[in-house]
Amino acid sequence: MTAGRDGTEVLIVGGGVMGASAAFWLRGAAAAPEVTVIERDPTYAQAATALSVASVRSQFSNPVNVKISRFGIDFIRDFAAHVGPAGGVPSLGLRENGYLFLAGTAAGAALLEDLAAMQRSLGAATEVLSRAALSARFPWMRLDDVEAGSIGRRDEGWFDNMGLLHGLRNAARARGARFVTGEVAALTAEGRRVTGLRLADGTRMEAGQVLLAAGTRVTGLLATLGEEWPVEPRKRTVFVVDAPEARHPDAPLVIDHTGIYARPEHGQWISATVPEADGPCGLDDFAPDHQLWEDAVWPRLYNRAEGFAAAKVIRFWVGHYDYNRLDQNAILGPHPHFDNLFLASGFSGHGLQQAPAVGRGLAEIMLTGAWQTLDLSELGVARVLAGRPFLEKAIV
Ligand SMILES: Cc1cc2nc3c(=O)[nH]c(=O)nc-3n(C[C@H](O)[C@H](O)[C@H](O)COP(=O)(O)OP(=O)(O)OC[C@H]3O[C@@H](n4cnc5c(N)ncnc54)[C@H](O)[C@@H]3O)c2cc1C
Repeated sequence: MTAGRDGTEVLIVGGGVMGASAAFWLRGAAAAPEVTVIERDPTYAQAATALSVASVRSQFSNPVNVKISRFGIDFIRDFAAHVGPAGGVPSLGLRENGYLFLAGTAAGAALLEDLAAMQRSLGAATEVLSRAALSARFPWMRLDDVEAGSIGRRDEGWFDNMGLLHGLRNAARARGARFVTGEVAALTAEGRRVTGLRLADGTRMEAGQVLLAAGTRVTGLLATLGEEWPVEPRKRTVFVVDAPEARHPDAPLVIDHTGIYARPEHGQWISATVPEADGPCGLDDFAPDHQLWEDAVWPRLYNRAEGFAAAKVIRFWVGHYDYNRLDQNAILGPHPHFDNLFLASGFSGHGLQQAPAVGRGLAEIMLTGAWQTLDLSELGVARVLAGRPFLEKAIV
């Protein structure tokens, strides 16, 4: 690895959870490179990391995603042990209530059975419950339209997103990573080599390797190299709901086949849906889709539990998925057109839980040229360039 003129061997664009995790793992390596993380907004006002629903599950349709989350849950559960006291975050407050995926048809129930078997073979604790079993366990739910549901008996729930970010960032800093504020405006390249970056204020930086962990803004950065990229911002409005007749603090995160998800949060609920006309939005468009509450979310909550008859939105927020329109899966690792360019992109709404394993994997491939502890090659860039989807079915 060649250091740039400023002595930095690795430049990471984006200091969200992916950039911070990669910096943490890179600096933990035996022959750790110099690492500089460049973040345009250290308040993280628009970063998906800060606007996340911050949940972790084993229930994915691709084994590689299950494996990524298996590592993620251990890391999240024993966070302080993994990052050490320098992280400054004693616990991520994991609530292990599980995810409950509901199926409304026999075919859907059969799919849940198949996926649960695959997930269990990888160490997950997914079980499929019939409608009767669900009803016994969650007597407050209306289940007439439900055939079955799959739930993780352990290893699934939610946690403190900003704790994960800050802990990783603090620990990366303590290991010697440098975090600087600046907006990368363009990348420059000569042949197969990215020669450096230009910041919006005109500063130029050179580096041995460049990792793009810039969330929704990655597509614009790759365009400066003449590269197309299938990642776009997709708006998600999240409602925080008070429903006094539906207080079920032990409820799981329900992925309802009618098209919403909901989970308890400090005596209230968090709920959201995918808009029917889903498509890209502006990078700075954080205006909420208020209408989704009345049109889509509330009726479906009420359909699932009568207690939602009296429900009030007390807060809402808007975040952007960095949506990979090819296959809704992460795009990771080396860019085949360049020798020193790497990606952590396209997480499509499930990246927070993936950050521990993805950061570790990226550090490995950047330092050794190969995936080591976990083979992430199915999530590599080649499939994107070839237009060959590697679809994840369990997208929320
Ligand atoms: C509403 C919502 C709910 C979600 N729920 C979950 C969930 O339950 N579980 C889960 O695992 N995941 C969830 N996610 C997804 C998860 O939050 C993201 O996948 C993850 O946080 C992505 O991290 P990141 O570091 O790649 O991106 P970001 O957090 O967006 O960070 C990218 C950073 O790059 C910076 N940047 C961008 N461009 C530049 C530039 N040119 N120069 C310098 N800096 C730049 C940005 O300012 C930003 O801080 C959710 C996301 C949303 C929006």
